[in-house]
Amino acid sequence: MQKSSTTMFNKDDIVTVRIDDIGSSGEGIGKADGFTLFIKDALIGDVVKAKIMKVKKNFAYARLLEIQTPSPDRTQPVCPIARQCGGCQIQQMDYSAQLRWKEELVRNDLLRIGGFDEETIRRVLHPVIGMEEPYHYRNKAQFPVGSKNGKPITGFYAGRTHYIIPATSCPISAPVCSRIMEAVLGFMEENKVSAYDEETGKGIVRHVLIRNGIYSGQVMVCLVINAKHLPAADDLVRRLAQIEGMASVSINVNTRRTNVIMGTETSVLWGEENIKDSLHILDVEYPAEDQAECPVFSHTGQQVTFGISPLSFYQVNPKQTEKIYSLVRHFAALTGREIVWDLYCGVGTISQFLASDAGRIYGVEVIPQAIENARENVRRNGITNAEYQVGKAEEVLPTYVEKITSETGSRPVVDVVIVDPPRKGCDEQCLNTILEVQPEKLIYVSCDPATLSRDLKILTEGGYEIKTVQPVDNFPHTVHIETIVLLQKLNS
Ligand code: SAH
Repeated sequence: MQKSSTTMFNKDDIVTVRIDDIGSSGEGIGKADGFTLFIKDALIGDVVKAKIMKVKKNFAYARLLEIQTPSPDRTQPVCPIARQCGGCQIQQMDYSAQLRWKEELVRNDLLRIGGFDEETIRRVLHPVIGMEEPYHYRNKAQFPVGSKNGKPITGFYAGRTHYIIPATSCPISAPVCSRIMEAVLGFMEENKVSAYDEETGKGIVRHVLIRNGIYSGQVMVCLVINAKHLPAADDLVRRLAQIEGMASVSINVNTRRTNVIMGTETSVLWGEENIKDSLHILDVEYPAEDQAECPVFSHTGQQVTFGISPLSFYQVNPKQTEKIYSLVRHFAALTGREIVWDLYCGVGTISQFLASDAGRIYGVEVIPQAIENARENVRRNGITNAEYQVGKAEEVLPTYVEKITSETGSRPVVDVVIVDPPRKGCDEQCLNTILEVQPEKLIYVSCDPATLSRDLKILTEGGYEIKTVQPVDNFPHTVHIETIVLLQKLNS
């Protein structure tokens, strides 16, 4: 029997608890007699009956048995497999409540991790910009393929497992996915093309990758296979080519026994190698000095175009991405002369939004393939004032600053620095170099409010003032939130 020294709870005990927070994986958090319980599928505001499963020193995991009083924010998920599927965590929460909760998340991190006072936070933090229609927003879906009772199936992995819950559609992905998946399963059954089996490493079809362009209407399908060739490939092409918008059908070879979805070798069976899509550049207008309102977006008529291959990185929620990068452009407020650094630049999406208003832009990114794509995108969009370099921001920048300083006797002039790091945030060496070059403005695009708050503390202590904190809901129904922060050099 597990028994904790600090609690009277034991495994299998039944408790009644009110949920008052959500953890980073979407689980409900509540306290019973001061002891913290993590309960999957419970929502803030629910009063639930739960069974203790695992007792640790200061907390326990419990299984939801019954919702005694449902939260006022509880709603029926649109997706029939929302509870089992590992993709969405909070579909059972009303969308406006999701947005309020995400704003609280950012506020709490700024307060607890950033150490900013309530008055400052109230002044700078805006409500989360949500989606009008928070479904079908993803332009990329990856369906694992397996088999059940000798028949091929597809669907989604149950949270933290490789057990496939059968489904051919997904309410947050493009509606075209269901026609594609039915065509692929029909092709497999009729031609006796087997599904890959992770246990034995045998079988052929592993995953189906689908990407679609929201403006171009183009659709791409790539079958990831455990073989050099796909049997009856012509029949697959015949079935898929009938689907509206189909522009590219390819196979990707992955014969390794690994959880990594894609292999390195891709070959086209039909159509184009790449599909294209655009992102529209939007004008942003904030209601004057009113932190309680979201900005208004309007079309500028400008757009940038991207080439998308099965392997290339591209933002998965294009409608919200347009808003995020238009906000960066609005905050940068360039006049045509500025020197801009775009750090952690990926395929150069941000710099392509800003290039026409900037003097010169320098992008830095650690993945060589992404830099290659960035250069292609720049050419595609006729941009001539953006340069890209492969390397770690925390290594490339100090070397560059040292070189310029020793050559010219003064630090390089940089007007605006944009950072868009992965979840772990910026390396301290990168932040120190930014503080050394003292740009007028700094724009931080973050996908994790905790590391953002940690880094903002360093930047404000280093002579910057936070002007605006704008969260954007880039991933409705998940626990993720993007935040864009404008910082200004003090006394400038
Ligand atoms: N700004 C891009 C990508 C942001 S995602 C876009 O909008 O699409 C974060 C990027 O940082 C990834 O492309 C990742 O490869 C890159 N990255 C991770 N660590 C890095 C480092 N130390 N230096 C530079 N780039 C890094």
